[in-house]
Amino acid sequence: MTQPEQFYSLGDDDAIRRHIRIERESGKKLRKTAWWKAQIQKGECHFCHQLVGAENLTMDHVVPLARKGKSTRGNVVPACQACNRNKNLTTPVETILDQIRDKAT
Ligand SMILES: [Zn+2]
Repeated sequence: MTQPEQFYSLGDDDAIRRHIRIERESGKKLRKTAWWKAQIQKGECHFCHQLVGAENLTMDHVVPLARKGKSTRGNVVPACQACNRNKNLTTPVETILDQIRDKAT
């Protein structure tokens, strides 16, 4: 039996892998919902606002699964492949910090 604190503790690889596996399954189900289809209908990337077409949008996790993010409506946005790749494993706060750092240099 897994204790909640074990499941959520950072650095426990097994717990993170399990979390990612569960949330990927939830993501597959979420992709089939009318809600997600409405999100991608415009074909616009949440990050760069380019119109790339619904078929080219990926489901991006705002807080990445590997960082304990979940496949829920509040945590997924449509992203073009370039933005999804660029974002990688960073959280929104880290992305903002990177942007501030980039501007400062
Ligand atoms: Zn984009």
